[in-house]
Amino acid sequence: MIEKKYEAVIGLEVHTHLKTKSKIFCGCSTEFGQPPNINICPICTGYPGVLPALNERAVGLLIKTAMGLNCKINGHSVLARKHYFYPDLPKNFQISQYELPLAYDGGVEIPLEGGSIKKIRIKRIHLEEDAGKLLHALGSRELDYSLVDYNRAGVPLMEIVTEPDITTPQEAWQYLNTLKLILEYLEVSECNMEEGKFRCDANISLRPVGQISLGVKTELKNMNTTKGVRDALEYEIKRQTEVILSGGEIIQETRLYDASTDTTSPMRTKEEAHDYRYFPEPDIPPLELSEEFIEKIRKEIVELPGERKRRFMSEYGLSEYDAGVLTSEKSIADYFESCLNAFEKEKASAAKPVANWIITELLGELNKDKKDIKGAPIKTENLASLVKLILNNIISGKIAKSVFKEMYLTGKSPDSIIKEKNLVQITDEVAIKKLCEDAIEENPGAVKEYRAGKERAIGSLVGAVMKKSQGKANPNIVNDMLKKILS
Ligand code: ADP
Ligand code: MG
Ligand code: ZN
Repeated sequence: MIEKKYEAVIGLEVHTHLKTKSKIFCGCSTEFGQPPNINICPICTGYPGVLPALNERAVGLLIKTAMGLNCKINGHSVLARKHYFYPDLPKNFQISQYELPLAYDGGVEIPLEGGSIKKIRIKRIHLEEDAGKLLHALGSRELDYSLVDYNRAGVPLMEIVTEPDITTPQEAWQYLNTLKLILEYLEVSECNMEEGKFRCDANISLRPVGQISLGVKTELKNMNTTKGVRDALEYEIKRQTEVILSGGEIIQETRLYDASTDTTSPMRTKEEAHDYRYFPEPDIPPLELSEEFIEKIRKEIVELPGERKRRFMSEYGLSEYDAGVLTSEKSIADYFESCLNAFEKEKASAAKPVANWIITELLGELNKDKKDIKGAPIKTENLASLVKLILNNIISGKIAKSVFKEMYLTGKSPDSIIKEKNLVQITDEVAIKKLCEDAIEENPGAVKEYRAGKERAIGSLVGAVMKKSQGKANPNIVNDMLKKILS
């Protein structure tokens, strides 16, 4: 028997909170981490007879996302009721979208290993409200109970659904990280997975290589990190492969991932759309987006990470690696360009050294302290001054490192540190000549070797001068001066 080869087919559904101050249908605050049931009112707790009013900003943020993900926008769109019964959903239906979502048909380009790029198509983006949160208290057998917190009920969410274009857990991980970065650049969501502001359900099936139609899928839930999504998919591929190879059948179901055992287990068999009894939401009129509204949002679109990376390479001549690190967070890219703004015409020549100082020194220190660049103790104009001091030969690269350490610890400007510690580089030829003459007198052995044709012996003489000057002599001038004296 020839064994068939199987391939994985993956589609992801990402739910992410939209960055609005108030909830989607009422004026309650969306602030995270408040005491339970503080941010609630009759609307978001589903009292009968109340009327929801749509938060326009939530629509705007979704449209902005749609533009960033190259989606088409439905100028005419409707909200829909999706029914299910669970105590975290106070109305027993969720206001969501079914037919005519706000956006559809987009794409995200993700980098693959080896430098190629793959487009993951976006099927749709729709608007909906989040549910509350249940806390299950496990007491005695008689007293097991659950508590409900409605602070999160009615927080605006968007759901971003891909086509089943993803073929490996690694690609899924890459897609999620790319998507998160774009949403952060667009400032539409905080994307904080630990706070549940960015959640991902992963759909996965297997099919024999070469087959076009899709196999039966399972939907995985309860992953709290992008790595969790990758691990859950890896486990599920193994599980489904074993089921199929042993002659079994995959059943369409929702499975829960458990990070502590790194396995998935059945939660419920999958519901079908008709189970939800979708119908158009009668309390909110269909959304008609005006051209002015769409154009106003378009003006809010900033340069996205991919474009910014390419610009850093073409405008500043940075390597792909450096440009990648600098654009890996919007705040790092902003910090870098703010440093460069302190340079005028020398911007292009300053870019590479500024990038180096940020990537190796600053990010290195911040990483050790578990801080991000927003908490950097060095102001951008001070890092720029440090680089200027090196480029203008006021201090050597070696001294600059110790000045940098002091800047990082104290937040002071490099000028004041250099003055305080008397670290200005010695370039004065008379002073250097004197130091060189002393070094020659004290190192007859090296002088003899140099004169006997051993060019490299000059190195130990330069070292002697640097030591005498406590690292402050300009090494190029010292080198030339020694050669001049000895010739
Ligand atoms: P459902 O109705 O079960 O929610 P959708 O058609 O809305 O299914 O798709 C949900 C997600 O699952 C999408 O990201 C889609 O690409 C993906 N998907 C759909 N069918 C499959 C399949 N057979 N295997 C893997 N992923 C799939
Ligand atoms: Mg779906
Ligand atoms: Zn409310």
